[in-house]
Amino acid sequence: MARKKTEIKIEEKEAIEKTDKAEELQDEEALIEKPKEGLATELGEIKELEEEIVEEVKKKGAFEKEAWKPKTSLGIKVKNSEVSDIDYALDKRIKILEPEIVDALLPNLTVELLMVGQSKGKFGGGQKRVFKQTQKKTQEGNKPKFGTFAVVGNEDGYVGVGYGKSKETVPAREKAIRHAKINIIKIRRGCGNWRCGCNEPHTVPFKVSGKAGSVEITLLPAPKGTGLIVEKECQKILKLAGIRDVWSRTEGQTRSKLNLLYACFEALQKLMQFKINQKNEEILSIVEGSSKAIA
Ligand SMILES: [Zn+2]
Repeated sequence: MARKKTEIKIEEKEAIEKTDKAEELQDEEALIEKPKEGLATELGEIKELEEEIVEEVKKKGAFEKEAWKPKTSLGIKVKNSEVSDIDYALDKRIKILEPEIVDALLPNLTVELLMVGQSKGKFGGGQKRVFKQTQKKTQEGNKPKFGTFAVVGNEDGYVGVGYGKSKETVPAREKAIRHAKINIIKIRRGCGNWRCGCNEPHTVPFKVSGKAGSVEITLLPAPKGTGLIVEKECQKILKLAGIRDVWSRTEGQTRSKLNLLYACFEALQKLMQFKINQKNEEILSIVEGSSKAIA
């Protein structure tokens, strides 16, 4: 009997130990699983957030001039309606420091975020995303940051681009849009193709090229009806600038999207940097800025 009792005790002990071990194992498994679940939901949330953020950009309501308190002298002039044309600032090369100036002077601006990032994760991760996610390694862990690229334009001769970066997605978007509005430029359009001759400002008046990093892009005048023969994100910039037809050539690492976009914008900037005599201006039917202002 004594033996049996001890045996039972040993069995009990073993049983207890087993359950303890099992519990420990479960805890460990839970520990391993928890961060996985957390990550999955976080990634999902970011995706949902991104869609919301992109939609918000499209919905953005009208600009309220009454509520705006200008801080710069140009801003005060715009609010008092002394300046009613954005060309006043662009021609005199006055730096625009408030995005509201652009809002007030160009009321029908379209804002678009370009795909400069890629999604993470398995099952075909690497899909194109609006936010470029980067991380900094620190003692506390990885600190993520979000960057996004915005384009603004009225599809009629005015266009601007900007990059914004922040710890959160929404401020990054606001920064990008703000920078894009401040960086707005006027471009020249015309009909520079030798076989078109339609005298309408639908393409670039002459060949221009821009460079950023290793990327070099050349925009060439194309006949009417060609469309935009460029990389997809560059198409969005040119479309918001008001160019309908263009041929292009690129060189360098065009996979680095930001450099490609900056190069494209530089090419557009160069459209204004040439002095053109009036005779050529008529031949190429060049239009500066808005085509409606002249007509
Ligand atoms: Zn033409």
